[in-house]
Order: sequence, then C-alpha cells, then structure tokens
Amino acid sequence: MMKLIVASNNKHKIEEIRDILGKNYEIVSMQDVGFDGDIEDTGSTFEENSYIKAKAVFDYCHLPSIADDSGLEVDFLNGAPGVYSARYAGSGHDDSANRKKLLADMEGATDRKARFKTVITLIDENGDVFKGYGVTEGEILFGERGKNGFGYDSLFFSYDLKKSFGEAEKEEKNEVSHRSRALADLTKKLWYYKR
Ligand code: IMP
Repeated sequence: MMKLIVASNNKHKIEEIRDILGKNYEIVSMQDVGFDGDIEDTGSTFEENSYIKAKAVFDYCHLPSIADDSGLEVDFLNGAPGVYSARYAGSGHDDSANRKKLLADMEGATDRKARFKTVITLIDENGDVFKGYGVTEGEILFGERGKNGFGYDSLFFSYDLKKSFGEAEKEEKNEVSHRSRALADLTKKLWYYKR
C-alpha cells in the first residue's frame, strides 16, 4: 500500500483524510517521518497554502506528501474568514474563539450563505504535483448545534445533510464534505494519470 505523508498538525483533518483514503493508502503523519515543525500558511489562497505545506514535507522526506488547506467563506463577510479561518479570532488556533467571533460578526445578517472549501495538493514520489478541489454549501446558524466535528462544524448548516456538521456523524459528514469532495477529485485525477 502506498504511504502518504499528511502535512498537517490538525488531528481532525488527519483522521478525516484517513477515514476517506485509508482503504487505498497508508496515511502517515509528518511527525512519524520526523518532521515536527509548524508550516506557516504564508499564501493568499487555499491553493497556494496547500502547495506550500505539501512541498515543505516532500522536500524534507522525498516521500509522497499530501496537504489540505481549507476554510469557510461567508457571503455576508465578503468571503471572510477564508484563508484566515484557523486564526480568525487571532493566532493560536482556538476553534471556540473563532466561532464566537463569527457569530458576533454575523449579528443582524439575513443572508447567511456560506461554503467550506478545500484544496488538496499531492506531490508524488517523482515530485509531480496533483490538486483536488472540493466545496460544500450551507448557511451559518444563529447558534451552535451539535458537538461533533471541529472548527466551525457546529455553526454550519449543511444543505446536503439538512442539519449542522456538528450534529452529523463523521460518516455523514464525509459523504458531502469539502474535504471528501477534494479527495475524490484528486483520486480521479491520479487514476487518469497513473493508469
Ligand atoms: P488550515 O489548517 O489553514 O487549512 O485551517 C483550516 C481552518 O478552517 C480550521 O482550523 C477550521 O477553523 C476551518 N475548517 C476547515 N475545514 C473544516 C471542517 O471540516 N469543519 C469545520 N471547520 C473547518
């Protein structure tokens, strides 16, 4: 089974990637290959950031590496928090502070449409680069619903599931999520290229 090194410290993301790709690939964390640094998201798009992360790990270990960059885009906030989703309320990756700030910024908003987006970059053993794109549509709730998932899940009402991601079982979320759609797009491209 091909090993894929995941360029992330986010255990939720790694677990979701393993749940989705685990049948076909052995998902290995970057710590397992001795890379324990933090990679700065210095790009201005999900695409740039996912490439920066995958490349940093690939340059370190020269093994197939994969990175997810994702976030939430809210229409009322002109696309914010976007690439700043992880540090919306300031640095430190505090999901609960980010949710609080989002609710405060959405006060009085009637248009609550939003979407999660993911760009996945895979760099294979030859250094060839593949990208997968995924989007899932919904709305920002007026308060949290459910305790599952991470990040903004409890504030995101999924149009596909007709409930919040926080209320969804992980298998349900994985059916419709931005991350699973990006991974499906990526695997389709890999299949065409590698056959
Ligand atoms: P990244 O590590 O720079 O890609 O940051 C992604 C951030 O976007 C996370 O810290 C979450 O705040 C948010 N996010 C991305 N994917 C999800 C998801 O599936 N559910 C909830 N929040 C997410």
